[in-house]
Amino acid sequence: MPRLLDAVIDVGDVDVELEFGVDVGRIRFISGSVKTRVSMPCQRCLEPMSIDIDARVHLGIVIAEAQIDRLPTEYEPLLIGEDLIDPAVLVEDELLLALPLAPRHEPQDCPAWEKVSAGSEGGVTPSGATKSTRPNPFAVLASLKDKH
Ligand SMILES: [Zn+2]
Repeated sequence: MPRLLDAVIDVGDVDVELEFGVDVGRIRFISGSVKTRVSMPCQRCLEPMSIDIDARVHLGIVIAEAQIDRLPTEYEPLLIGEDLIDPAVLVEDELLLALPLAPRHEPQDCPAWEKVSAGSEGGVTPSGATKSTRPNPFAVLASLKDKH
């Protein structure tokens, strides 16, 4: 799956359960799920993170664009023209669509979270320049004075 491998660091085993059939409205459909676990870089710290992908598939097969309008709304149209369906391409497409655009660790799991939440804009603050978050004792005294 070359396109998927371009988008992620690694892909685990892919668990595919697809049913091909014809519904009561004579729509040819592909229904089921495609599941795997991928490794993608966290957009905050760039360390790899595991993401479970569970793509629901509910495709209605159309062979001409005019048929898309008539497709019941519960289906995603799959326009195949004269081509045969390549299940491997289909599975890869569904996985690509299901990938998160900007995956991020949960804050407690992300090494970069503290830096970001400290409010530094535009990236890395040189170490030592970090402002103390403790209240300035003189400011406290000043506020006490004001209460006279
Ligand atoms: Zn992270």
